[in-house]
Amino acid sequence: MEPKATQMLVDIEMLRRYDRPGPRYTSYPTAPNFSSDFGADEFIDEIIRSNRVDHPANLSLYFHLPFCEKLCYFCGCTMLITHNRNRLDEYLDYLSKEISIIGKKIAAGRKVAQLHWGGGTPTYLDAGQIRRIFSVIRDNFDFTDDAEIGVEIDPRALSEENLDALKEVGFNRASMGVQDFEQKVQVAINRVQTEKLTRWAFDGLRHRGFESINLDLIYGLPYQTVHSFEQTLDRIINISPDRLAIFNYAHVPWLKKHQQVIDQTALPEPSEKLKILKLTIEKLTAAGYVYIGMDHFAKPDDSLTKAFHEKKLYRNFQGYSTHSDCDLYAMGMSSISQLESVYAQNVKTLPRYYEAIDRNTLAVERGYRLNDDDQIRRYTITKLMCDLELDQGKIEEKFDISFENYFEDAIRQLQGFRDDGLLKFSKRKITVTETGHLLIRNIAMAFDSYLQKDRLKDTPIYSRTI
Ligand code: SF4
Repeated sequence: MEPKATQMLVDIEMLRRYDRPGPRYTSYPTAPNFSSDFGADEFIDEIIRSNRVDHPANLSLYFHLPFCEKLCYFCGCTMLITHNRNRLDEYLDYLSKEISIIGKKIAAGRKVAQLHWGGGTPTYLDAGQIRRIFSVIRDNFDFTDDAEIGVEIDPRALSEENLDALKEVGFNRASMGVQDFEQKVQVAINRVQTEKLTRWAFDGLRHRGFESINLDLIYGLPYQTVHSFEQTLDRIINISPDRLAIFNYAHVPWLKKHQQVIDQTALPEPSEKLKILKLTIEKLTAAGYVYIGMDHFAKPDDSLTKAFHEKKLYRNFQGYSTHSDCDLYAMGMSSISQLESVYAQNVKTLPRYYEAIDRNTLAVERGYRLNDDDQIRRYTITKLMCDLELDQGKIEEKFDISFENYFEDAIRQLQGFRDDGLLKFSKRKITVTETGHLLIRNIAMAFDSYLQKDRLKDTPIYSRTI
């Protein structure tokens, strides 16, 4: 029998006390710790090394397609606005070369279990471009029979032909940005997308057999109120997506200059934001969704929920995933790869990306090689973020350490969370409570040795945790 969702109640006062900047832990160490000492040559050595282990991991592929037709003022992605479709063709030429360079270095027999197109707006590609780049991918990589092949969809940049092409090349998962249905909010963020259009795209995906369709919403946008967001949630629940991701709007105009266009006085007050978050969690869990990880909700029979209950959930740069045992190869400008013990990030500008590929090398700009301590902390933080529980015995066995000795400092910091009812300590387990679930980033921060460095502590490089 599938586990049932139960409604969760939220304590706003508790949330308010813990709201501070903190990483989202899509990696550990986090990207600000990456260094230019690690470049293309180091990454190529690691790719070759990853082929030589006894049982090379399956592959997860990510492709960054950065172009969009119109700027959403809230956007935090690495993207480029263009109306010149020739630029997309030029980018695909370079991406094809990068695919071929990496594909040739991966040993035969290693298969792709997961693939994701993100952006930017992948559906800004027309049907011909979708077919062209996917055939390059298939020429260079083999897939498992049940590979999860996902794409981010923008209904404003979608056609029946695009949908047919996506299905034809093999996509079977999709994620769609909605953000908010309220027109005043949509105008303020420069993303007008009617409910009718969203429903058309959703039905088009369903009709073509796409599974686990996800919708993204954002809270904390200008002019949002508890009442307006409740109406959006009602309409979303009526559409009935398999998964929902509810992100906290990160207003970081010092990092994302275009966010300066957003009228700061129209942003909901922190107390209103917390009420929106409370409403969202209570409403979605009452509607039967299971609250997973940091900001995801899924139906009880969805694979993400099953992975959560079976403690097989995993977290990487794309958020939560059901595949924990893959090497992640990310291609396209700014994308970040993750192998067993390294991260490697591509350059963030188009000219530099093209220049590197023209030299027939990889476009890695910076990276990181994990040491033993990083591996222990990454595993621990990932387990916390995914399982909401730490099994001390398992961590001790895996890394041959004494949990109490190794994490003496972290355990001391966790006492405050325990006193506030956010954590429970039993004999050999630390379990995150229902209220603690909302503050999982704060709890994970206790295990982050890099946050102790003054340069990263409480600086505005991270968004707020709530
Ligand atoms: S479509 Fe997505 S990537 Fe493009 S500007 Fe809007 S939010 Fe950013």
